[in-house]
Amino acid sequence: MSDTSLRVVWIYPDLLSTYGDQGNVLVVERRARRRGLKVDRIDVRSDQPIPTSGDIYLIGGGEDRPQRLAAERLRRDGGLQRSVNNGAIVFSVCAGYQILGHEFVNDLGNPEPGLGLLDVVSVRGEAERCVGDVLADVDPALGLPELTGFENHQGVTHIGPGARPLATVRLGKGNGIGDGNEGAWNDTVFGTYLHGPVLARNPLVADHLLKLALDVNALPPVDDRWYDALRAERIASAAQPA
Ligand code: GLN
Repeated sequence: MSDTSLRVVWIYPDLLSTYGDQGNVLVVERRARRRGLKVDRIDVRSDQPIPTSGDIYLIGGGEDRPQRLAAERLRRDGGLQRSVNNGAIVFSVCAGYQILGHEFVNDLGNPEPGLGLLDVVSVRGEAERCVGDVLADVDPALGLPELTGFENHQGVTHIGPGARPLATVRLGKGNGIGDGNEGAWNDTVFGTYLHGPVLARNPLVADHLLKLALDVNALPPVDDRWYDALRAERIASAAQPA
């Protein structure tokens, strides 16, 4: 982090922001400010260069065509790859998650190169689209409570040896290949299929990103009653039989 403020970069709101994923940037921003941090929020449209000075980068989901356009522009730009090589933190959702991997299948049915920042490969799922509520237990290495969110994707994702599953689903499909895995992560790069927005439903994930950015083990506590009520309500509703 720079001496003065935390720089939070929201990548391509014009292409990748389905299902309220923009809420993720609001949650990171808000939880940082509640800890007394100054925050520079930088929204980068797809015709603008990706700044390499960011501390936390957020990418949302998107439909198949905007996803291809975003991948082309991010590859050409190269800024996100440079930032990650310099230790930046990235949190990505759905289409954004697929773009961070080595490859996904684009709207034309062709393999599209990703950025190779996460050791995952996405292909088009043969089964029906993965749609619905998700509850998932997070990798114990991260020490986070269960994830709640919802998914809507056709692509399914295979994890290579350089990444770990972010969570294991108790409800829903997650990565969609039948092994119960949901999302993937390495030290500083995270991907998930969960919308919601996922950081509003799982604010301690946002805190985890802040801790990584600040290089601290703990943050001052904040009043989470509103978030806790939302989580309880979503978890209870997801657990109801349809
Ligand atoms: N287009 C991608 C898929 O269907 C991602 C969808 C999304 O971001 N919700 O797999």
